Amino acid sequence: MAKNVLIVDDAAFMRMMIKDILTKNGYNVASEAENGKIAVDKYNETKPDLVLMDITMPEMDGIQALKAIKGNDPNASVIMCSAMGQQAMVIEAIQSGAKDFIVKPFQADRVLEAIKKVIG
Ligand SMILES: [Mg+2]
Repeated sequence: MAKNVLIVDDAAFMRMMIKDILTKNGYNVASEAENGKIAVDKYNETKPDLVLMDITMPEMDGIQALKAIKGNDPNASVIMCSAMGQQAMVIEAIQSGAKDFIVKPFQADRVLEAIKKVIG
């Protein structure tokens, strides 16, 4: 069965791009969220196999959302999507339980490689 992924990013074009990569490669996009707060709700509703989590977002950023999701479900698989120059936040995310990170601008190969490593 196709694995379900929750895509979290405040930029609609970024969500669209990631969704395109995922659906073309046999993954199912369970849901999308444009900020961390919505991401936490959508995670609890859909219990996806994986979350692709942007860091910089309004309302609640990706680090806070990661911590909230891991607080509810310690087995949650989350991959952070960072921009250049966010090393400190990436380290905080990994220490908070993120499984991996990918750096924007995305290359489809790198995105798929990270996903495969985490959920197969
Ligand atoms: Mg962002």
